[in-house]
Amino acid sequence: MKSILINTTEESYPVIVGNEAINELPSLLRSLSPSKVLIVTDTNVDQLYGNMLVDKVDKEWMTYKYVIKSGEAAKSFDMFYELHSYALKQELDRKSVIIAFGGGVVGDLTGFVAATYMRGVPFIQVPTTLLAHDSAVGGKVAINHPEGKNMIGAFYQPKVVVYDSNFLQSLPTNELRSGFAEVIKHSLIRSESLYQFLYSEIRHLEDITTDKLQRMILEGIQIKADVVSKDEKELGLRAILNFGHTLGHAVEAEAGYGKLSHGDSIAIGMLFATWLSNKTLNVTLPYYELKSWFKAIGFPTEVPYSQTTDQLINKMKKDKKTKSNQLTMILLEEIGVTTSVLFSEDELYSLLD
Ligand code: NAD
Ligand code: ZN
Repeated sequence: MKSILINTTEESYPVIVGNEAINELPSLLRSLSPSKVLIVTDTNVDQLYGNMLVDKVDKEWMTYKYVIKSGEAAKSFDMFYELHSYALKQELDRKSVIIAFGGGVVGDLTGFVAATYMRGVPFIQVPTTLLAHDSAVGGKVAINHPEGKNMIGAFYQPKVVVYDSNFLQSLPTNELRSGFAEVIKHSLIRSESLYQFLYSEIRHLEDITTDKLQRMILEGIQIKADVVSKDEKELGLRAILNFGHTLGHAVEAEAGYGKLSHGDSIAIGMLFATWLSNKTLNVTLPYYELKSWFKAIGFPTEVPYSQTTDQLINKMKKDKKTKSNQLTMILLEEIGVTTSVLFSEDELYSLLD
């Protein structure tokens, strides 16, 4: 079992990682002495592990479970409202603890409910996807608005993150690949040694053994923790986490949510940002090496042919990180070292064409 500390201005909290980390949950809950516990999970996770988690909690505390339909659509105003209504009906109070048990969707929605219910109640993240090594750490919680993803949300830190890697055994391949993209991102922006490890040891998804998984989760979280601790509210450094996401988000949105996974979309975005780095920064990153590796893993490596430059630029401009008519792109000076570069719309047109 390993513990990584996330430092924030208010209080620090640990991310506990390991096989069987879930066994730590009762003692962590005890330290919060909750009046009641509400577990929020989704249909898939509930089917696999719902009873197991309830068993761990309901012997000591009055426990409720709310199951949302799996999928991005749950990050909605309707579901946000439903959860608040349910919490009120069960008379949860400010000493109640809410547990987010699932992937990034459950984590983002539940975290935002916890941030707002009675002006904030303690919550615990129990992530079950590889992608959630990213989403469960850092305190960004949100729901979607028809005008854009994650548009309504807060910065709200959990009391603890309990990351049991055993849950990942049941992840479908496409979800494993999606999370792997974020691990690759963390390596590209911050750790050449993690990149070399991933590149040499994981040529195909089947190469991901339990040990390798453990290492990538730990190092990925460590990188995220480090960035978040230095820039909790996304005022500066944290922007480097957007590497691959400017184009990635646009491609994802343009495909229609759920059509192209987040990881597949940012794989395309990371390739573009790498290519753009070579083209504009006078550096020689191994773009072709990266591209053939991505292909072998199963990532798409091109923008879907149906998406036009116009559509993508318009979507990128909508991104909440956009300033006036310029777009900030996170590029690489070398593997593990980022820089941020402003591009005008015209420049991007010529580069994307
Ligand atoms: P997800 O929560 O939808 O999970 C993916 C799928 O896997 C779902 O169908 C889910 O039911 C299933 N699943 C989850 N755990 C499983 C398990 N152990 N075994 C089998 N199936 C399982 O998606 P995700 O990829 O985890 O997260 C994506 C979301 O995270 C997006 O909404 C994105 O905006 C958000 N996100 C947030 C942050 C942040 O900082 N808050 C960062 C990155 C992504
Ligand atoms: Zn991402």
